[in-house]
Amino acid sequence: MKAVVLTGPGQLEMTERPIPACGDHEVLVRVMACNLCKTDLKCLTMGQRDLVYPRVLGHEISGVIAGVGAAVTGYQEGQRVHVHPGIACGACAYCKEGDDNLCDHVRIMGFNYDGGFQEYLVVPAEGVRGQIINIIENDALSFEEISFIEPLSCCVNVQEKLKLAPDDTLLIIGAGRMGILNLRVARALGVRKVLLLESDPERAARAETLGFDAVFASGQEAEGAIRELTDGQGVDAVIPCCAAADAMNLALRVLKKQGRFGHFSGIIPDGATQPEINTIHYKEQIMTGAYGCSIAHSRRAKALLENGSLIVKDLITERIPLEELRHGLERVRQLETLSTIVVFD
Ligand SMILES: [Zn+2]
Ligand SMILES: [Zn+2]
Repeated sequence: MKAVVLTGPGQLEMTERPIPACGDHEVLVRVMACNLCKTDLKCLTMGQRDLVYPRVLGHEISGVIAGVGAAVTGYQEGQRVHVHPGIACGACAYCKEGDDNLCDHVRIMGFNYDGGFQEYLVVPAEGVRGQIINIIENDALSFEEISFIEPLSCCVNVQEKLKLAPDDTLLIIGAGRMGILNLRVARALGVRKVLLLESDPERAARAETLGFDAVFASGQEAEGAIRELTDGQGVDAVIPCCAAADAMNLALRVLKKQGRFGHFSGIIPDGATQPEINTIHYKEQIMTGAYGCSIAHSRRAKALLENGSLIVKDLITERIPLEELRHGLERVRQLETLSTIVVFD
């Protein structure tokens, strides 16, 4: 089978490997689609905290069960599945609370185990035991759509932490893939007013057609318009979906007193921007982080997709074969497509 292996920073190699054997406590999955993510790009270019080389990247995985270990129950060959990437210990305090994405011992498909940029992958025994394989019940969903469950789950995580209510006004900063997926999750949760700040004209124009209530082209425009829209109060919640350091200060400025800030994207320091954290003090704003997603988040995201509360079909803008992975990651870097998905036939 074909597999793309990352052997070190910047070094992606197309290799031919035997299809992995499926141990008694394991499940073999034939990968059908794997969505490309900025984190894959980060792993390729600069490594990542949780990454262990050599590694097959890819953590937004959909496929078909191709083998079930003799000791495994509850799964059958041929079932269409989403593979949740995080394999938690199940025993620590975080796991017991259902916050398994924060598990002290979490191991991740595509970081600690080989992920989805190969034709077959083995879900290790700990993953099978931890029930990271989600069986898809809606046959109408394509594998490309199913591959959105992981990034959607990350949006569910931040939005649940923000306790969004239908009457809230939410500002999203950045109309890349995660900004748009946050819009879709917010709508599915019933949030009626969702605003966008996107300074890139092409991405802003694309976002206009996707259902935001207003799109602002600059921080200044956003500040003025939000003041008017909210009687000078500010928005109820903000989710920056970009790594720009100055977006954080703008977010704090347009957020109302006691407003909620979802720290969803890691920020790349620009050396000049100082975070205006005293705003949090004066306005009693509430800040929450959100990193990845728990198994519960992925089940909720799966349900939203399966019951039609949200759609992602229109966000599938590029399908590539495995051989073009490097080129696909370059497209992700350039932000040229809304989504790029490796598909297998
Ligand atoms: Zn991802
Ligand atoms: Zn744990």
